[in-house]
Amino acid sequence: MSRDLSRAERVHAVARGLRADLRSTDEPFRIEVVELGDLRSHFDIQRAAAAAAGYSVPEPLSTAISVRHGCSGLTLVFLTEGEFATQLVDNLEQLQDMVAEITTDQWPPCPRHNHPLEPVPHGMLVSWVCPCTPEIFTELGGLAELDAQ
Ligand SMILES: [Zn+2]
Repeated sequence: MSRDLSRAERVHAVARGLRADLRSTDEPFRIEVVELGDLRSHFDIQRAAAAAAGYSVPEPLSTAISVRHGCSGLTLVFLTEGEFATQLVDNLEQLQDMVAEITTDQWPPCPRHNHPLEPVPHGMLVSWVCPCTPEIFTELGGLAELDAQ
């Protein structure tokens, strides 16, 4: 991954990474790259609310990631401007909450302590990092290799 990837390409890379990483939960998560489509109007409402609170939120990227598990679902939306890795961290924090609700476990578990790893911007995507040491364990998509160690 030496050349710069476009935002849309990075969304696909994130989806691949999530498919690999969510396997460690042994739960049937379904991860798909989707067009924002009908969700755009929902997002426009959020943007209007942010604008009313004095924040300016850029347009969403038309490519999003749908994460589904049974009747639970989450759409990870990225923006056309701003730090992609920071947006990815926000999205992954929401996903971590969803996984914790479904599995009642913290995900992904820190190999050293009783807390979850944190997503931290690293290169164009993120790495999973212990929040207290802060040891970098693996990049997004690498949790399976971590389990095998
Ligand atoms: Zn730790």
